[in-house]
Amino acid sequence: MNLFELINYTISSLEIGFASYFFILSSLSLIPIPFSERIRSKDDLDKIMGEEIKRLDLQDENIAPVFNLGFLNSVAVLMPDGTYQIRISKRLANRNFVRHELYHIYKKHNYDNLRINSWLLKKIDYWFRQEPQARVYALLDIKL
Ligand SMILES: [Zn+2]
Repeated sequence: MNLFELINYTISSLEIGFASYFFILSSLSLIPIPFSERIRSKDDLDKIMGEEIKRLDLQDENIAPVFNLGFLNSVAVLMPDGTYQIRISKRLANRNFVRHELYHIYKKHNYDNLRINSWLLKKIDYWFRQEPQARVYALLDIKL
């Protein structure tokens, strides 16, 4: 095997590795969609959010649930005053997404994002630490 072949194999292996990693990461969020308890109204969201906040012992945090926004994503947003909003998209609203976003708050991921100055390190930290932690907790109830 010459150097060119070695570089080629290395790049191919990395591509397969990254593709597999992101496939597994996506699966952790997509698999529970048909099985997780659906959220159909703001009342459902408030109830489920209250239950999941207790499970993570986050009662001291000021977390406002926001329901029925037009976009597809669900997200936990750290507001300038230090409170949080969890915005749950109506289209894919279920308990799994609430658990996922609350875990970001539980692990203080939003504060970590503010601490890291490098754009690249932020992305690496997000995709290889924060997201796996939140997705594993949401699906399997394991705190990493
Ligand atoms: Zn997330």
